[in-house]
Amino acid sequence: MARWLARIAIALVVALSIGAIVAYQQVSSVASEQLTDDVHVLFGFGSNVGVLATERGSVIVDTMTFRMQGEEIREQAERLTGQEVGVIVNTHYHLDHTHGNPAFPGGTRVVATKRTRELLDAFDAASWTGDAAKTLPNETFEGSYEIALGGKTVRAMHLGRGHTSGDLVALFVEDRVIHLGDLFFNGRYPNIDLEGGGSVQEWIGTLDRVLALDGYEKVIPGHGPVSDREGIRRFQAFLRELWTQTEAAARAGKSLDETLAAVRLTEDAGYEAMRVPFVLNLDRPFVIRRAWEEATGAVKPQGPAAQPGG
Ligand SMILES: [Zn+2]
Repeated sequence: MARWLARIAIALVVALSIGAIVAYQQVSSVASEQLTDDVHVLFGFGSNVGVLATERGSVIVDTMTFRMQGEEIREQAERLTGQEVGVIVNTHYHLDHTHGNPAFPGGTRVVATKRTRELLDAFDAASWTGDAAKTLPNETFEGSYEIALGGKTVRAMHLGRGHTSGDLVALFVEDRVIHLGDLFFNGRYPNIDLEGGGSVQEWIGTLDRVLALDGYEKVIPGHGPVSDREGIRRFQAFLRELWTQTEAAARAGKSLDETLAAVRLTEDAGYEAMRVPFVLNLDRPFVIRRAWEEATGAVKPQGPAAQPGG
């Protein structure tokens, strides 16, 4: 019996160690892809990071999940552009887009929507104490905001609710590339943060406003491979199908379980699910549940006062 238990214990230790090594490798490895002479994307555990080279420092969009990733991002951005990072843009408040910020010097310019700063203060204040507080968004805006640096322009725009109520999109004007943050999950089920003011219904119209913008061909999603306008349209078609069917089921008085059984999605063909045990499952039942919670009013935005309209 003792020997049997010992074997299990050893097997468990080995499994945990392998798990830890795999997790460490996932967190510490950052791959890059070049989109134009001056734009690169970094892929790693957490969000996709856009890197724009200018003649006077680089602009990076989002910083992944951990401080050590922020350090890796800083090193890679310096290596790829030959310049220090001059400006950080945070597309929204989620930790997998912001928690690398503290790897940068305190007082670095950090641009976000006013709404994103409010959501950080309301939901994530505990992560931003001490030195970390010096890398919170310190240049916030409503509507549209232009960052001019070393001969390049980044136009940050708040186009409406979607994934949260604070998401911005960042257009690299001269390079004709747009970073959509988590307004676009490419080929995978999205997180829908109703508590943070997100909305499946509003998201569809927000993507109409993204598609109406001129001046870009290449599209960086918050998660998944680099895409284009057609990729945005496909994701929007998925959201539309999700909302139309779920809202109809909710309006017919169906319970959540009945709705999960009734909704038949086709636009999510080939979508990857992401499951983080005890934290979050981003899969088909998750997105249907969130749409049902929105349609029935079972979950409402929390924290700072809900934004009027879009
Ligand atoms: Zn997010």
